[in-house]
Amino acid sequence: DNAQPKKPSWIRVKAPTSEGYRQTRDILKSNKLVTVCEEAGCPNVGECWSQGHATMMIMGEICTRGCTFCNVATGKPQALDAFEPGRVAHAVQKLGLNHVVVTSVDRDDLEDGGAEHFAQTIRAIRHRSPGTTIEVLTPDFLKCPPSALEKVVEARPDVFNHNLETVPALYHEVRPGARYFHSLRLLQRVKELDPSMFTKSGIMVGLGEERQQVLQVMDDMRSADIDFLTVGQYLQPTPKHHGIARFITPEEFAAYEKAALNKGFLMVSATPLTRSSYHAGDDFQRMRAA
Ligand code: SF4
Ligand code: SF4
Repeated sequence: DNAQPKKPSWIRVKAPTSEGYRQTRDILKSNKLVTVCEEAGCPNVGECWSQGHATMMIMGEICTRGCTFCNVATGKPQALDAFEPGRVAHAVQKLGLNHVVVTSVDRDDLEDGGAEHFAQTIRAIRHRSPGTTIEVLTPDFLKCPPSALEKVVEARPDVFNHNLETVPALYHEVRPGARYFHSLRLLQRVKELDPSMFTKSGIMVGLGEERQQVLQVMDDMRSADIDFLTVGQYLQPTPKHHGIARFITPEEFAAYEKAALNKGFLMVSATPLTRSSYHAGDDFQRMRAA
């Protein structure tokens, strides 16, 4: 039986209609950019795009992995587009972003996992918009030499984000092809390479994890010196994707947020509609000002 729990009232989605939304859409379209906002069918797109916030997804629309929660197509990816970093930088400037989040599909077909392309994108944004803070949300570079990660870190993003996505016990059914401790170690390594860089990670809840397992993930993240945490409700993109085990209540989210702050994260967002990139800029600006 595939019956899914009914969407509760706190998962509400406003239709994207504002003028700001249209402007953002047009700038992205004219620069031929792909966004995770659209690819993932993110519920916050109306709100984010009306404020010009979008998360660009580089290196194509086809991923070499097939995570069971993710709506991105799996297959043989396209060749890298050498002009893409320039187009991303152009769009960031046009959108006038204070903070940008750049993510990508997984590119297990490339020797460096696309690290050089990420680095070029960071440098291109920096060049055109020196005041914009840059957050990268990267793949795990699982099969790459250590130099891949080093390349991205050397390009000096302000925030290095890589999502653990779920508790280790659910990796085989949620994130096959990834390794929990590899991802954790990746973030720890970023901090070792550049202690001034902020590191960030996130998980989805409602996939069938236990509360105790979530608290353990938080402890693991703190042992790896991860600074920022996001926790959001998993929503099933299509009936073919991993089922929703349960809708976590706003009160449970508030308790997760409190627990995480007590464990020493510098910044925590844990609400039903939290996504890795939701309010990322506002939160980061506020934290830096504090
Ligand atoms: Fe895009 Fe992130 Fe906002 Fe969702 S939360 S619409 S992915 S920027
Ligand atoms: Fe989706 Fe990322 Fe998994 Fe690829 S690696 S299937 S883009 S979550």
